[in-house]
Amino acid sequence: MDTHRKRILTGDRPTGPMHLGHYVGTLANRLRLQDSYECFFIVADLHTLTTRPDKDAIAQIGDNVREMVLDYLAIGIDPERSAIFLQSAVPETYELNLIFEMLVSVPRLERVPSLKEMAQAARLTAMPFGLLGYPVLQAADILLPRATLVPVGKDNEAHVEVTREIARRFNTLYGEVFPIPELLLGEIPTLVGTDGRAKMSKSLDNAIFLSDDAGAVEARVRGMYTDPQRVRADIPGKVEGNPVFAYHDAFNPDRDEVEDLKDRYRRGKVGDVEVKSSLARALNGFLDPIRRRRMEYARQPQRVEAILRSGTERARHEAASTMDAVRHAMGLYRVPGL
Ligand code: ATP
Ligand code: MG
Repeated sequence: MDTHRKRILTGDRPTGPMHLGHYVGTLANRLRLQDSYECFFIVADLHTLTTRPDKDAIAQIGDNVREMVLDYLAIGIDPERSAIFLQSAVPETYELNLIFEMLVSVPRLERVPSLKEMAQAARLTAMPFGLLGYPVLQAADILLPRATLVPVGKDNEAHVEVTREIARRFNTLYGEVFPIPELLLGEIPTLVGTDGRAKMSKSLDNAIFLSDDAGAVEARVRGMYTDPQRVRADIPGKVEGNPVFAYHDAFNPDRDEVEDLKDRYRRGKVGDVEVKSSLARALNGFLDPIRRRRMEYARQPQRVEAILRSGTERARHEAASTMDAVRHAMGLYRVPGL
């Protein structure tokens, strides 16, 4: 562990398997930056409570956590270099969250667009206090290891802005404790869904999962939304805004093939079947090494547990030292002798 490297914090809610949208939005950046940054990857189980505090949802978290750690390891996150940790197992998270709640206003949080969308998607009739505080909790996550860089997808941009404001406010009131972290968007900040809707998301049922087998990928791709105007293969088609080509651009390493397909598509010289079967091939080529690594780790559940345990210990260690600095900077009264 090299303490001179700058830090990254980012992560995901354990609500289900990870998909290609997560990959291009944030996972690819994590992989790329594992060497140059000391990385903390958070499995944000407390954040799932903001919309699903019911016992049924909580009962699913354990399985989702294990699958998510497998997803991380499968894509090539190296647990020797990067810490993978469980949010709820870092008690300082709750502590710093409360302090940060004092440093942001309710109207400011009400202006974060994603929170209303989340409330609607979860069919909540009123905004829970905790959901309004979603970006505040995220600020605690990011600032506990004093991260300077946060690789996330576009939908998290407004949240990271709240973190930056809270860090500035804290530093102004109490002294320089926190860095002001930078946002890092993925090369494709939002990946479109297989149905052509703006965002690939498991709740919209338009996702291709990193853990899908080859047959599932083929079936998904076969059913993909393309250019709706193009009812026959000899009609010139639209490449721009066509999700099949967005995925080709993102995942097909054979650029010549992609350019050739685009050219023929525009001229009405290639059928959807060919464009899609070459996409399925490219996606399966991309996913194959991920599947192999996943299988290897899945065979060793105790090793995976140990990875989460040691990552959580590292995160706790950093969190404890940050909280010492926070209490000291604030000058909170301490009971003598305790
Ligand atoms: P889902 O909607 O499938 O449940 P999510 O948005 O709830 O996914 P989060 O755990 O909130 O997933 O986010 C994990 C990370 O992945 C965030 O950085 C988010 O910005 C990013 N992300 C999620 N979906 C996409 C997408 N379709 N394109 C790009 N980035 C994405
Ligand atoms: Mg999610």
